[in-house]
Amino acid sequence: MIIWGIRKHSIYSDIDHSIQCPHCSDKEEGVELEVSRKHLRIFWIPTLAFRKKLSLRCLNCGSKIKVQSLRDSEQVRLINLKGRHRAPLWQFSGLFVVAIFIAIMIPVIQNSNAADLEKIKHPEMGYYLRYRVPGGGYSSY
Ligand SMILES: [Zn+2]
Repeated sequence: MIIWGIRKHSIYSDIDHSIQCPHCSDKEEGVELEVSRKHLRIFWIPTLAFRKKLSLRCLNCGSKIKVQSLRDSEQVRLINLKGRHRAPLWQFSGLFVVAIFIAIMIPVIQNSNAADLEKIKHPEMGYYLRYRVPGGGYSSY
């Protein structure tokens, strides 16, 4: 059984006083900006980051603001802001664990195959070797 889940992590947050709320038209309290990214966790280890999201919330009325409802120049600035903030490396910790596991296991498997090949080339008394012969049958010696 694999235990997995999805978590959201805030990458960047700030309060912007240049954006006017389309709901209450307030500009003084400001708008809270948050860039967040979700990541997949396998056995509580963050493994893969995906779906970066920019969310805006008015600090005066508390409503969420859609980026599409803002002026074009503000949209471009916010999209660039979102693009500048990347997921932290710890959100890929699980991939590093898998890579280290594979790096450790490759020599172990290669040594195991070499040992098996050596046993086939130089069988000792009592070894039982079974192999497939052309035509689909099995043979042993
Ligand atoms: Zn507002």
